[in-house]
Amino acid sequence: MKIIRTIARIAFLLCVVAQLCSCLAKPIKALVVSGQNNHNWQTSHKVLKQILDNSGIFVADTVLTPSAGGDMSAFAPDFSKYDVVVLDYNGDRWPAQTDSAFLQYVRKGGGVVIYHAADNAFSGWEEFNRIIALGGWEGRNEKSGPYCYLKDGELFLDNRPGPGGSHGQQREYPMHCRNANHPITKGLPDNWMHARDEMYDSMRGPANIKDLLYSGTADRNTGGSGREEPLVFTVDYGKARIFHLMLGHCGPTAEDNPAMQCVGFQTLLLRGAEWAATGKVKQPVPSDFPTDQSVSLRPDYKAPAE
Ligand SMILES: [Zn+2]
Repeated sequence: MKIIRTIARIAFLLCVVAQLCSCLAKPIKALVVSGQNNHNWQTSHKVLKQILDNSGIFVADTVLTPSAGGDMSAFAPDFSKYDVVVLDYNGDRWPAQTDSAFLQYVRKGGGVVIYHAADNAFSGWEEFNRIIALGGWEGRNEKSGPYCYLKDGELFLDNRPGPGGSHGQQREYPMHCRNANHPITKGLPDNWMHARDEMYDSMRGPANIKDLLYSGTADRNTGGSGREEPLVFTVDYGKARIFHLMLGHCGPTAEDNPAMQCVGFQTLLLRGAEWAATGKVKQPVPSDFPTDQSVSLRPDYKAPAE
């Protein structure tokens, strides 16, 4: 009996120590940049922060630009204080010194997450287009770079002229893993159903994709390109770790927002942001992850208690 009690005590102590260690693990500092977007940024930037904060892994700050046409001269976030910068911004150009500060942060090996319409931004800023690798709309065309999509399972560059950026009707669609060995995708199912969302297609740019992680078939019958489109990837840009996540079109409210309520979206955001910040992913695969047959939502952006 005594031995059992001693073992129980040791086990209890070990649990307490483990708990303390996990509480003491330094949170990853994230900065969500928003304030202008042709999307519902008023909701999306709060939801992004909620997802990051609720994970217990990140502590997220938010910085908002003035509204369109406003005086941007005081917009000067200190990117260098953060491990990862999450861009939810599509609007007026930043002041020149903020552009430089951002480039310096990225070139020094900073972590960046490009979220959905952030890849619509700054079509005339050459370095930004290399940071996102592919972009759409805002006047993008053959001068922005080739179309980039999959042909016979491989990325293919298509120089034909035409506008960059399109999407069909919103729908649920399967995601196809293209690299199961990357820290972001490791352990996730090869195919899973994403909740109702836009699927970007016909994106153009320098196409300096490093690791393609997921693609999706842009269904021609619902207005898509009919091609297999790169939707989630990392970008080859010096020492920087850049994660580009085209998913997550924000709905009218946080409650009516399936693309961001999708557990797959939230998992990719969290794993991609952790990888961008640290180069590693320590998060386990969540038990409520979608399957190849059915979508899975976290309506309150919180993981269920295990
Ligand atoms: Zn959208």
